[in-house]
Amino acid sequence: GGGGGRVQALIYEFQHRCALPLHLLRKISEAMTHEMTAGLSTESGSRMPMLPTFVEKMPTGNEKGVYYAVDLGGTNFRVLRVLLGGREKRVMKQEFEEVAIPHPLMVGTSAELYDFIAKKLTDFVSRESSEFSTHAAAGARELGLTFSFPISQHSINSGLLIMWTKGFKIADGVGQDVVQALQQAMNRQHGPKLRVAALVNDTVGTMAGGRYFDPDVMIGIILGTGTNACYFERADNVHKLQNGKPLPKTGSMVYNMEWGAFWSSHIPTTHVDEQLDAESINPGQQLYEKMIGGMYLGDIVRRMLLKLAREASLFSGEVPQQLMTPFVLGTPEVSKMHADESIDLRVVAKTLAKIGIHRTYLHTRRAVHDVCDIVALRSARLAAAGITGILRKIGRDGKNGEYTRTVIAMDGGLYEHYAKFRIYIQAALTELLGEEAVKYVVLENFKDGSGIGATLLAACHSQHG
Ligand code: ADP
Ligand code: MG
Repeated sequence: GGGGGRVQALIYEFQHRCALPLHLLRKISEAMTHEMTAGLSTESGSRMPMLPTFVEKMPTGNEKGVYYAVDLGGTNFRVLRVLLGGREKRVMKQEFEEVAIPHPLMVGTSAELYDFIAKKLTDFVSRESSEFSTHAAAGARELGLTFSFPISQHSINSGLLIMWTKGFKIADGVGQDVVQALQQAMNRQHGPKLRVAALVNDTVGTMAGGRYFDPDVMIGIILGTGTNACYFERADNVHKLQNGKPLPKTGSMVYNMEWGAFWSSHIPTTHVDEQLDAESINPGQQLYEKMIGGMYLGDIVRRMLLKLAREASLFSGEVPQQLMTPFVLGTPEVSKMHADESIDLRVVAKTLAKIGIHRTYLHTRRAVHDVCDIVALRSARLAAAGITGILRKIGRDGKNGEYTRTVIAMDGGLYEHYAKFRIYIQAALTELLGEEAVKYVVLENFKDGSGIGATLLAACHSQHG
């Protein structure tokens, strides 16, 4: 009836407002390159922090021994240990434990969060089997600490938290040295002796994990709860001072871009994005991340469905109460519905039923499927524009007539589990780079790369030598 026509009209409008034709993608990609240069020039040259990581060397493959990592993401927390056997044997054994971070810890005090981490870590280390311990060096176990939040580092194993992002809001953690905070919490546990050998951003961990297996890895990208990127930059391209001092001029260093903070006026926004941002715990911040990250895609879809219910009676005149609850619809659900190829969209029906929306018409389910597609497509194309921006910055976009194989190490639940999203990224990269150049750009999913990479960086920066 008339309701269906109105639904269609609103979806077309949404699609139009979210669209990223090639000429816009180019502009956004060029803006990314430009912001990278600006961010490297002065402390506040860009919204993107472009943080030095003090990671100047990558794992070589010769690393040996037992190393640990703690990986604090936006959703998941994991502890892991690896046994490294050197060039021939590589990662001989690995063990990990993963838990979802309890929500109260994301909005409590920093002592509570670090105590939680220290407790899990202490328990995990104390369960180390002899298969590992017989290969461990005497003294403290060494640890890579993966932190998926912006940190101002002044060495490989120290750094102050700049701010929380994603779902975290812990007032007293900002400005703290995260390594010290963990060390103090470990002391409160009276746990085994541990030394943090490397403090690494998750992008950097992913890049190191990738490089260990493939020497052509130049970039690390996270597409998980949030999104971020890092890459190798040559020292002579960096002009900014840190804490009033020039950075070490030894050569290349990995830079943590914190690209979630990126913005360009060419990025298409809707009323839904404005609302999501205004009602978020960090309004005005991480705007690129809020259009790309897994934490947000489900909620963009929810907000659009709510609008369709209110303004076009999408759900037969009722406005489902459940749709008013922020984050009831997760990105895993969006990806499930989007993947539904059945003639009657039964997975969409089932997923909607799970959030209390029963007995939907086929045309309603089609509308929901369309919204998922529009939101995922925009996210993937924005990420691809960012990737191309980095490739241009490091001269690997093929535009100088030189083609060099460049591998991008990818990690994060969004990239790993959302097949259509991956296809959309690849398609947009092909548009941006061209059929020839894109053959030399390889996106490789290094599952749990951020955690394993942290153990490798701990090994590279070990005191045991
Ligand atoms: P973290 O961000 O904590 O490091 P992950 O990399 O595992 O954790 O990413 C978790 C995020 O990945 C979730 O918040 C969710 O948004 C997204 N995700 C998980 N599973 C899926 C899925 N099946 N489809 C799409 N996105 C998913
Ligand atoms: Mg992670």
